[in-house]
Amino acid sequence: MSKDFYCGLDLGSSRAKLVLIDEDKNILGQSITRSGSNFNTTANNALNKVLSENNLDKDNLIATVSCGYGRENVEFANAHKTELGCHAKGSFHYFPFAINVIDIGGQDNKIIKIDENGKRRSFKMNRKCAAGTGAFIEEMAMRLDLNISDLNQIASSAEGLVTIGSYCTVFSATEVLEHIRNGKKVEDLVKGIFASVVKRIIEMDSFEDKVVMSGGVVQHNPLVAEMMSRELGIEVLTAKYPQLTGAMGAALYALELQN
Ligand code: ADP
Repeated sequence: MSKDFYCGLDLGSSRAKLVLIDEDKNILGQSITRSGSNFNTTANNALNKVLSENNLDKDNLIATVSCGYGRENVEFANAHKTELGCHAKGSFHYFPFAINVIDIGGQDNKIIKIDENGKRRSFKMNRKCAAGTGAFIEEMAMRLDLNISDLNQIASSAEGLVTIGSYCTVFSATEVLEHIRNGKKVEDLVKGIFASVVKRIIEMDSFEDKVVMSGGVVQHNPLVAEMMSRELGIEVLTAKYPQLTGAMGAALYALELQN
């Protein structure tokens, strides 16, 4: 007999993340794709791809919970949850003690404080501008004519760091181009871009307990987590797949729907 499984979907403004878990909370399959302009189609395509890649039968899908920007557009979801709730749940699943979660997504960043019982104590969210988000990094990469997938490696080879003083993404782009004209090294600039992200987040809150970082920026740029740890003087933890944290939280909610 085939095993039952549960689906969590995090339809972010930038990327759609899907996780399938079994009753024991083991991940059976996962996917990360661009969110696109039709969230329902994106979600269906992601599900069908993960099912076929892992030889799973849709009939064994017991429940689906969606979260994120496009959560209400997923027709096969049994319930929706907020992204804050799902990020908190996913983070506490991996790190079940008092934590400060820093999630850096495509168009926002969040700080969620969770107590030792997994209860949310507080949260802060920056949705107002691109500073400190994945979109900021993507914009800077475009200005430097670099592929976003190469940034972590480039920044890791830096011997120095060029400080980006501007807060605003548009002004930062002008500043970066000015530095290039003045002969600054690309690797020092990319590290400076990462440092700018770290600074914008540190300005948002104070941090105690252990810090957990999640989201696409950290998944693809682990150097950002290292720089955050150095800057805060606090240990920074990351799950194996930081970008899937919200989807994992949603999958855990889907499992609870049945129990
Ligand atoms: P959201 O939930 O808001 O859609 P994510 O947590 O999925 O955001 O993170 C999206 C961000 O992750 C992008 O803005 C980008 O900075 C980064 N990212 C996504 N894919 C890649 C990649 N292949 N290489 C490097 N960075 C990436």
